[in-house]
Amino acid sequence: MTKIRLVILGGGESGIGTALLGKKEGYNVFVSDKGTIKDKYKNALIHNEIEWEEKQHSSDRILNADLVMKSPGIPDSIELVKQLKKLEIPVISEIEFASWFTNAKLIAITGSNGKTTTASLTHHLLKSEESLGLAGNIGDSFASSVCNEQLKNYVLEVSSFQLDGITKFKPNIAVILNITPDHLDRYNYEFESYIASKFRIAMNQTSEDYLIYDADDAVIIKWLEENPVQSTLLPFSLTKVIENGAYLENNNIKITIDNNSITMPTKSITLEGKHNIKNAMAASTVAHLLRIRKQTIRESLENFQGVEHRLEHVLKINKVDYINDSKATNVNATYYALESMEAPTVWIVGGEDKGNNYEELFPFVNEKVKAIICLGVDNEKLMQAFSNMVDIIIETQFMSEAVKIAYKVADSGDSVLLSPACASFDLFENYEDRGRQFKNAVRNL
Ligand code: ADP
Repeated sequence: MTKIRLVILGGGESGIGTALLGKKEGYNVFVSDKGTIKDKYKNALIHNEIEWEEKQHSSDRILNADLVMKSPGIPDSIELVKQLKKLEIPVISEIEFASWFTNAKLIAITGSNGKTTTASLTHHLLKSEESLGLAGNIGDSFASSVCNEQLKNYVLEVSSFQLDGITKFKPNIAVILNITPDHLDRYNYEFESYIASKFRIAMNQTSEDYLIYDADDAVIIKWLEENPVQSTLLPFSLTKVIENGAYLENNNIKITIDNNSITMPTKSITLEGKHNIKNAMAASTVAHLLRIRKQTIRESLENFQGVEHRLEHVLKINKVDYINDSKATNVNATYYALESMEAPTVWIVGGEDKGNNYEELFPFVNEKVKAIICLGVDNEKLMQAFSNMVDIIIETQFMSEAVKIAYKVADSGDSVLLSPACASFDLFENYEDRGRQFKNAVRNL
C-alpha cells in the first residue's frame, strides 16, 4: 500500500512534532523550511529517517503532496500556499493533525491576551488529574506530546493561526478569553476575519462540549449573537450576575454549573490585576467542570507563581518595585498592566509599533504615571501621544540605560514597570530576551 505523502512546511517546534508523529503513524513525511532548521530539530529528523530540506521550498515535491501541515508562522498569502489551495490539497495545522491521534479530553484556550497565563493556571488547577499534559504554544507542541505518550487530558494553548488550519479539531472545553485587534497583518487588516478565526475553536463543538468566554467582552458577545454556536455556553463576568457560569459576588468568585455552585474568595488569587481575576475565573470554571474540589482550586490559586515576563515581580530596591511585563506586546495587555499599578509608576514602553492607538491608556497615564522612558525604534509616536501628559519623558535605545534612568527618577514607594505595548524585534531577539535584559539590568543596579 502506498503511504500518504505528508509535506510539512516549517521546521520549527510544531513542524518537527508533526513530522515525528506522522512518521510514527506511517505517513511518507517530507519537511521543507525556507529558512534554516535548528540543529536539535535536524538531529531528530535524521535520527528518525525523515527527509527534509532547508533554505528552499521544492515546489514540485510539495505540490505533489496528499496532505500539507503548514506551521503557524507561515502566512496563507505566500504563493506556494495559494497554489496548494488551488490544487485542493488539504492544508492543515499541527493541532488538527495531532488531534487525529488521541482520544484525550481537550481543553483548548485562546484569546488575544492571557493564553499562556490561563493555560498554565488551568494546568496547575488540574494537576491532581491523572495523565495531564500542557502543550500548544507553550512548551512542547501538541503533536510531539501525542507522539511521545498517550495522555488522557490536555490543556492546549491555541493561537488563531493554529485555528485557521483546523477541520475536525473539537475541544471538549474551549475558552475564549478576550478578542482585541492583534496580528491584523495576517487577516487582511480585517478585524472580523480575526474574530472569525478565534471562534473556529467552537466550530466542531456540540451541546456536549463547553465554551467558556468573557461575557464583558463586547466583541465576543456581539459575535455570538450574530453567529450562534452549538456548544453549551459558560460565560464569566466581573460585572453581571451569571446563572450558569462564573461571576463576582461580594468579593467571591461564584461558579455555577448545572445548579452546582462553588465560591472562593478573590483574595485567593495571588496574581495582580483585574485581567488575572478573569483568567482565574476561566481556569476555575474549567476546574469546576472537571469536578476538582473547591478546596484544591482555592489552594492552587493561592500557590500559583505566575508566568515569567507577565507582570513578573523582579526586585525591590530602595522601596521601589521593579516589574517585568515584557510579554505585553500590544496596547491591551499594557492597559491591564497600568490598571493594576497602585503606586506612582515609572513606565518603560516602546519597541516596534504595530499600528498602535494609545488613547485607551490616557486615563491611567494621567492618573498613575510620573515618568515615561521610551525604548525602541518607534519612539516618536509615543513622544507625540504622551509628552503633554507627564513631566518626564525620555528616549533611549538601550535597556541598561532605560533602567538606570528609571532608577534615578523613581522615589521610594514608586514602581518601575516594563510594559512595552509593542513588539520586541527592533532591539531584541524576542520578548523573552527583552525581559531578561530588563531583569539583568535591574539586578546590576
Ligand atoms: P498570550 O499567551 O495570549 O500572549 P500571556 O498570558 O502571555 O498571553 O500574557 C500576555 C500579556 O497580556 C501580559 O502582559 C499579561 O500581563 C497580559 N494579560 C494576561 N491576561 C490578560 C487578559 N485576560 N487580558 C488582557 N491582558 C492580559
